Amino acid sequence: MTESADLLLTNAVVLTMDDQMTLYEPGAVAIRGDSILAVGKESDLSARIQADQVMDCGGKVLMPGMVNAHTHVPMTLLRGLADDLRLDVWLMGYMMPVERQFVSEEFVRLGTQLACAELIRSGVTCFADMYYFEEHVARATAAAGMRAVCSQTVLKFPAPDARDYEESLVIARQFIKDWINHPLIVPSVAPHAVYTCTQDILQSTAALAVEFDVPLHIHIAETALEVENNRTEFDMPVVPYLKKLNLFDAKVLAAHCVHIDDGEIRTLKHHHVGVAHNPSSNLKLASGIAPVCKMLEAGLDVGIGTDGPASNNDLDMFEEMRLTAFLAKGSTGDPTALPAPQALAMGTRLGARALHIGHLTGTLEAGKRADLILVNIAPLHNAPRFRHDTNGLYAQIVYAGHATDVTDVMVNGKWLMQAGQLLTLNEAELLVKASEYARQIDMFLIQREQSVLSKLIAIGGATEGESYEVQAKVPLTDPEPVLLALKGLELEILHSRHYHEFDTYFSFADPSQGFLRYREDEFINENDQVSNVRYRLSLLGPAREYSFPSSVLLSRSRFIAPATHSLRFYREYFKPSREMVVDKDRLRWRILFRGTEFYVNLDRVDNPNLGYFLEVKSRTWSRRDAEHKASLTRDLIQYLSVSPDATVSQDYVEIMGTRE
Ligand SMILES: [Zn+2]
Repeated sequence: MTESADLLLTNAVVLTMDDQMTLYEPGAVAIRGDSILAVGKESDLSARIQADQVMDCGGKVLMPGMVNAHTHVPMTLLRGLADDLRLDVWLMGYMMPVERQFVSEEFVRLGTQLACAELIRSGVTCFADMYYFEEHVARATAAAGMRAVCSQTVLKFPAPDARDYEESLVIARQFIKDWINHPLIVPSVAPHAVYTCTQDILQSTAALAVEFDVPLHIHIAETALEVENNRTEFDMPVVPYLKKLNLFDAKVLAAHCVHIDDGEIRTLKHHHVGVAHNPSSNLKLASGIAPVCKMLEAGLDVGIGTDGPASNNDLDMFEEMRLTAFLAKGSTGDPTALPAPQALAMGTRLGARALHIGHLTGTLEAGKRADLILVNIAPLHNAPRFRHDTNGLYAQIVYAGHATDVTDVMVNGKWLMQAGQLLTLNEAELLVKASEYARQIDMFLIQREQSVLSKLIAIGGATEGESYEVQAKVPLTDPEPVLLALKGLELEILHSRHYHEFDTYFSFADPSQGFLRYREDEFINENDQVSNVRYRLSLLGPAREYSFPSSVLLSRSRFIAPATHSLRFYREYFKPSREMVVDKDRLRWRILFRGTEFYVNLDRVDNPNLGYFLEVKSRTWSRRDAEHKASLTRDLIQYLSVSPDATVSQDYVEIMGTRE
């Protein structure tokens, strides 16, 4: 009995990539509508199938399209924006600030179109994305004819598409409802990572994914720092933490999984978690090498992803498959580890399963969607061909194949590229638009990098406004008279504190930028023990020119904010030209003196060893108020038994400067 098909592809080397790695040569594939009708020997299919159209594949490899298991497609527009940086500086210092400024529906649409063109050209038919405005990623992807799991990001910070996470959740829910039955798009939700999400976000997103039975996409254990921080904060590594929050009740796609142990691998397996291995990104950001062989041995579905094009910097799955095999061999010291057929399976079948859509795509099998590609295996860089071992074909593709060897791409029964010509996207038009975005982003960054304050604002580091102070600071030989005077009747002590302060001052080539101070405050309780630690970042503008009689100074502007990143982060982000360290023991009083509130600091500067200093400060708002307070400051200094002609110094920093 003959069956009817729309298209019969003949004269191909068919790699089905099914569980048995069945291979037909010469093979054929019959397509009806959006699906594969039959796969087999050419002679068998030609005999039993009546096709409207027959296409001779000219001896090329016909295989399932590749599955890019983890990416952020709109970031094609940020490719090459900032490189050779540590993950936190790269992400918090560059990517997120630029994204907050530029990412819009239009940005996402254009970035997705650029990515789709690149992906189709390199033989990818399906990808798992995680970004903002995911609805527009989905629209552009569907219009380009590609298949994708599109995951709407939810995180604890304000995002380009949402003021807060509650709003992102509403967006995610609506997106899932709108797209749940689409033939090409599988909608999904993406809590970004444990370090960018609260427990509440992780639980709510898992519940949402379970409610609609859609995948949940998340970054897991990408860096050692992430795991270390999670241990410090929650007393356990990332996987058990997520398990405790019931995240694995959802169909999870976990990107990275670089720093996980055997127990965590078992947990992932138990909960059918799909894993996306991202070798280029992990290498480029020096995140480490994921235990891929162990995960595969445990039976996990480990696919391969490029991660975003801003951290790779391309979407080339041939390169990723090759790296996957090489890294596994190099890191285990075993050249037989992760052979070529397995790498190709990860790039196709296992990737589709990791995305929880293995029933739709990833292999050439009757009933699955017609997502397939033709690869030329006879160019100069891939010749000659040996035939004694069929594994040679897989090795040709994985070890010597290039993205440019892909000639034809079909998704869901429709051609997206034929003989090297894209059919659904206009590359020339997209490139012009992309370079216009690059021009605007360049301008934004050039402007930002000129000012320490704007860099601080860009990372959300200056939430408090500018404030001015009247301050006077004098060196002391003996602190006792001050302590005695503080017990006097002319002033009232409102509050007192004792702490150790460890300050790191960053200074810059341009002195008008001021100083950036990273301060670690250790609060010392009555028992002389550290009771609390606080980290703060202050941008101290250059000293104002106003000075008052007796060298009382209307001080610099200052922006103060909690320091949420490490000292190392700020160092790498701000790139100071000089760095100075000052450690001191500080007794601090808030007092009322003649009806005005002052801070009195009695400091013992231990590093460098500069001795005692008395500092008197009050906040001010206007020039007039400053003049009044300056005169009071002078009186207070005198009252605190300090010689009226004591030199008033401006700041430790300046003292340091003169001592060098
Ligand atoms: Zn990622």
